[in-house]
Parts: sequence; structure tokens; C-alpha cells
Amino acid sequence: MAKKQEVVKLPHEYFPPISFQAAGPDNQTQQSNMIQARQNPAFTFAMALIAEGLCKRADQIVLDYTQSAVAVQFAVDGLPQNAPPRDRQSGDGMLVCLKVLANLKPGERRARQEGKITADFRGQKFILLLFSQGVKTGERVSIKLQPKKNPFGSLEDLGMRDKMREQYKETVNSGKGLTILSAPPGLGLSTTWKFAMEAADRFVRDFVSVEPKEGNEEEIINVNPYRYSVAAGESPDKILPTVLLKQPDAIVLPEIVNKETMRIILRHVVEDEKLAITRIQARDCCEALLRVRQFCEDPAAFAQAVTLVLNQRLIRKLCDCKQAVPAPPQLLQQLGIPPGRVQVLYREWQPPPPDPKAKEPPPVCSKCQGVGYFGRTAIFELMIVNDAIREALVKTPQLEALRQVARKSGVKSIREEGTLLLVKGVTSLPELQRIIQLG
Ligand SMILES: [Zn+2]
Repeated sequence: MAKKQEVVKLPHEYFPPISFQAAGPDNQTQQSNMIQARQNPAFTFAMALIAEGLCKRADQIVLDYTQSAVAVQFAVDGLPQNAPPRDRQSGDGMLVCLKVLANLKPGERRARQEGKITADFRGQKFILLLFSQGVKTGERVSIKLQPKKNPFGSLEDLGMRDKMREQYKETVNSGKGLTILSAPPGLGLSTTWKFAMEAADRFVRDFVSVEPKEGNEEEIINVNPYRYSVAAGESPDKILPTVLLKQPDAIVLPEIVNKETMRIILRHVVEDEKLAITRIQARDCCEALLRVRQFCEDPAAFAQAVTLVLNQRLIRKLCDCKQAVPAPPQLLQQLGIPPGRVQVLYREWQPPPPDPKAKEPPPVCSKCQGVGYFGRTAIFELMIVNDAIREALVKTPQLEALRQVARKSGVKSIREEGTLLLVKGVTSLPELQRIIQLG
């Protein structure tokens, strides 16, 4: 009898096929990087790692290299999940391949390095942003997995309500005032920034942006970029006077950086009655206001200039396999929902209690693979600045005092906006609580 031949699968064969395009300053370097990576025996491990991440819908992979092993985490919809660790040998080889593909130095394990790889997976293009940095325990590597085509297309797709969108557009498209966009770190500020900009009428007005050369700012159609070099010690105020000679209608400024920049921006907004849009990391609109205010020598001019503040954060959406649970009346009361309005809330799928007679475990949802969540949407807090808020900005510029005035002015908090999503069954209570605590 012939001996049954054993078939051994290579690591990447457990996943759909993936292909990479290596980075490099010219075609020749790209090609040689590609060949060098492919010749490495660990190339299949690199393919498997990225393919596994994309299969899991991860937006980031984090690798922690310590003396004995490599810890692996996949962040799905922003939430890190541990995966089995890799041994150092295959982990090291995998990293060499990825660094070569990103045109980085494979032997450099201390200094911070940053590069990009393009990947094709299931007919879609992805950009892999690779960061590596030596840390006390070894080396930390982060790979951001971004679809080349952003899954969100507009503020509407991001989940902004119709009325809020109208208010936003009306204020920004008045062509005057200072607009501030904000989010806590890592919760989607760059996406909102892009779509908030796209919702502005850049086709009838002359928009210019003043941004760092070193930044990875995504280009926005009809916004003319002017760049300053942080490496050469420059800041926006260095080039703003030249930019302003062209008399643009709107200035887009991703970073304020210093007081001189703010002075120029306020003059553009208050004296020339034009528009400026900037952004800052903050937990809510009031904090964003106070953080920008720190750059102002003249708080009264700032209060006069600012017209709109937007804060947002991303929240995971329940998958279709969500389960309805009776809504506890006490909880509804805490959430400020009138009695009788809501009968059920939804929670993420939970497996049925174990059945000792069952031969197989209960089936798991094929869409979310049992995670219970699929994709994210945004919660927005929109503040149209009124006279009461302006007065508080000058007289009582403290967070709690300002928040009270905002609530009285009808600004709905992230918590209130999030409660709407909970009632609609878009998300769950634990997820809402998690997202509120993050800020
Ligand atoms: Zn599901």
C-alpha cells in the first residue's frame, strides 16, 4: 500500500492570497526590495500576519519584541485583541521582510523608523503604515492597515445626523469665523477632518491649507496646500504672511503650534471677516475651546472669532447577530429616556449556556466571527458658539463652568448623542460606556 503523502500548509496558505508592492525612491529600488523580501524564508510569515489581520478586519497590528518571544495584538474596530505570540526566529524574519518592503533599515532596531507598503487583498488595495521603535524591553512595531479607499465617504456616512449636518454646513459656509474640530487621541480626528473639509464649499471659495511638510496630511480637492518645514525649525506663522497676500477666503490649519500663528489667524477671521478651520485633540467641545484659547493673547478676540466647535469619537456598531434584552426601567431613567419609550436594548451576541449533550459548539456568526460588533460609526457633539458661551470664554474660562453654559445653550453631549444610538440598537451599553470613559 502506498504511503499517504503528508500535505503541509505554509503559514500564508491558511488565508486568502495577498500580494505586496515594495516601497522605494525609484522602480529599481522597489524591485530589488521586493526580491530581497521574497527570498527571505520568513516571507510567508509576513504574508500570513498581514492576511490574518485583514481577515479579522484589524485596523492595526502591534508586535512587541522581547528577549524570548513576540507578543501579537490585532486591533479590530479600534479594540486590541491578543493573538498567540510568535517565536523570535520567525518573528524576526517576518519583521526583516516588512522593513525591507517598506524601504527601511532591517538591522536598525532602536531608532524610530516609519514607512509604507501597498498590499492587494481580496481585490482591494491597502496601505500598510509601518512604525518601529526600540523600547526598554526590546522593540515595538505598529502596522496600521488602511484601505486605500476610505470606508467612510462623507459626514453623513460617518453617522452625523441630518440636522447637525445642516447646522455645520450653514455655519462653515457663512464663510466667516473660526471653526475648531476635535476628538480624543486615536478616535478618528483625521477622518472627520477630511470629511468636514469636504462638506465646506471649497468650490466657490478659495481655500488654502498651511501644513507641516513632514506631516502625512491627506490632500483635499480644491484646498491649495502651503507647507512649512518642522525639521528646519519653521512654524505656520513663518509662511502665513506670504499666504495671506493672496487673500484666500479660508485658511485650513491642522496645527496651531504657537501664539504668533493664532494672532495671524484671529486677524484673518476678525478683521478681514474670513474663515479659518483648525483642529485639536480634546475630549469635548469645551475642552477644545480652552485648549485653543491657550494660544490666544487676546481672549476677547478669540471669543469673538470662534463660531463652531465639533467633537467626535468613533464607536463600534453591533453586528446583525445582536440580541434584544428587556430595558431595565432604572437604567432608562438614568439615561434620561422617558418611561414607555423604549422596551428593549441590544447587546452583543452571547453564546447559549453550554449543553453537555451537544456534540458541537454553537455556530458562530460568520460576519463578525463571534465578536458581536461590526464596523464603527461616529458620535458627534456640535457647539454653535453663542453670546453666553463667548462671555464664559472671557470671564470664566474653566472647563466645568463652560460645560454648564454649553448645556444651557442646548449643546448635546457625547453621552446624550450616544444614548440615541443605544436606543436605536446601533450600539450596546458596555460599548457606549467604554467610549465615554476613553475620553
Ligand atoms: Zn455577528
